[in-house]
Parts: sequence; C-alpha cells; structure tokens
Amino acid sequence: MKKLEQLYEGKAKKVFATDDPEIVLVDYKDDATAGNGAKKGTIRGKGVINNRVTNSLMKMLETKGIPTHFVEEISERETLVKKVTIVPLEVIVRNVAAGSLAKRLGLPEGTKLKSTVLEYCYKDDALGDPMVNEYHIAAIEAATKAELDIIASYSFKINEILTAYLKDVNIELIDFKLEYGRLADGTIVLADEISPDTCRFWDSITHQHLDKDLFRRDLGGEEEAYQEVMKRLLGE
Ligand code: UDP
Repeated sequence: MKKLEQLYEGKAKKVFATDDPEIVLVDYKDDATAGNGAKKGTIRGKGVINNRVTNSLMKMLETKGIPTHFVEEISERETLVKKVTIVPLEVIVRNVAAGSLAKRLGLPEGTKLKSTVLEYCYKDDALGDPMVNEYHIAAIEAATKAELDIIASYSFKINEILTAYLKDVNIELIDFKLEYGRLADGTIVLADEISPDTCRFWDSITHQHLDKDLFRRDLGGEEEAYQEVMKRLLGE
C-alpha cells in the first residue's frame, strides 16, 4: 500500500490517502493539546503508544462483535484504516464523575455513578464542541435516529467490554470518548482512537491518573503514565 498525499492534519494525527480509495493511513503525532487547543505541548512517545494501544483495543473489540475501522498496523506510528465520513459527534461514556461532569453536577471527582451516563458533543472546534442531546442531533441532522440507536448500543457494549478488560490490568475506566464513522455503504463503525488521550484511566489501587489529565492539569509524569498503560496492555 502506497502512502500518498496528506488529506488532513488534526491535533494528534495526520491522515494520508493510499492507492486504495477505501483505505487511508493514520499517522500519530506526539503533539498534545488541551482545553480546545488553548494549551499546547508534546508528550514524548505518545504517538507510538496511542497507535499501538488503540489498535490492540480495536482488535480486541472486533473479536467481541464491535465493527471498527481498523485494518492493519504498518509501523510504530502508522495504521491503515477503512475510509469513513466521521459522524460529527463525540460520544462520552462515564462510569465515575470526573472532569466537566464533576464540575457541572457538583460531584466530587471519583464519585461512582449509579448508572452509566452517555453524553454527546457536537464536533465543532469553533463552537468548542457543545453538548447536544438526541433532539439537537436529529434537528441538525448530525446523525439519523437509526444511526444514533446503533451508536448508543455499541457505546454501552464497548464500556462493558473495556471496563472488564482493563480491570484485569488494574486500570479503572472512569470515562472515555468515542467517535464513529460511516463506510461508503452507510455502515456505522467505531473510528478514531481509544487511548490515554481519550480515556480517563485510574490505577485501581492507588487511583493514580494514567492519562492525559496529567498534561491537562500540569501534574507531570505523563510520559511515564502513557508508558505504563502500554506496558499493562501490551506487556512492553
Ligand atoms: N475527551 C476527549 N476529547 C475531548 C473531550 C473529552 O477525548 O475533546 C475525553 C476525556 O479524555 C475524558 C472524557 O472524554 O476521558 C470526558 O471528558 P470531559 O467531558 O470530562 O472533559 P474534560 O474535563 O476532559 O475537558
């Protein structure tokens, strides 16, 4: 497969065309941003870790019946994925109050939620990714009702699978963000990434943060924490 012209550069990844019109190449960067781009920096080794962690989790999810965009990891930082049009929603799944939810509802961070919370944000940097509900989503045609039903059902299932999987390596899955895409025939598949950039991972015993909050909150130790997540999931 040939790496052709760059199609897109995002905050954490670049996307290139390939000689197969149905496949694109994702190239993960070490660049880190927080607060909708307000804070910028680098987390050394992040691109390699997020590429490898995402691929290993997507492969595992595929074996459990979740369709994903994953095709093949071709280098430390590069992966071939099915070309999709991204559904312009960030789907957030929460098990424990943290971050913006803790603030919004006045719950101390770490409060276990009695049931899983699903939230949607409309992907628009200029608007700061505002939270929307299913009525907004239908009204602006971000997704159809049928698509949203599939997205919600996959998201709950992914939460169950990932929570159990991470528990075995002493990681508590606090919350995470998913993105979905449409294949040419309209099929919804899981896209984007599942990594310490997009999930809150806490050590099950010490409750130490093993994710991007270390960078967002200037706590330090993010490089080591990302390495630790890779070690626990991939054994290296
Ligand atoms: N998240 C993300 N990208 C975003 C916003 C949130 O990956 O643009 C993830 C974040 O890592 C966390 C979850 O979604 O695991 C919930 O984030 P929250 O709404 O609490 O926002 P934050 O406090 O991170 O700004």
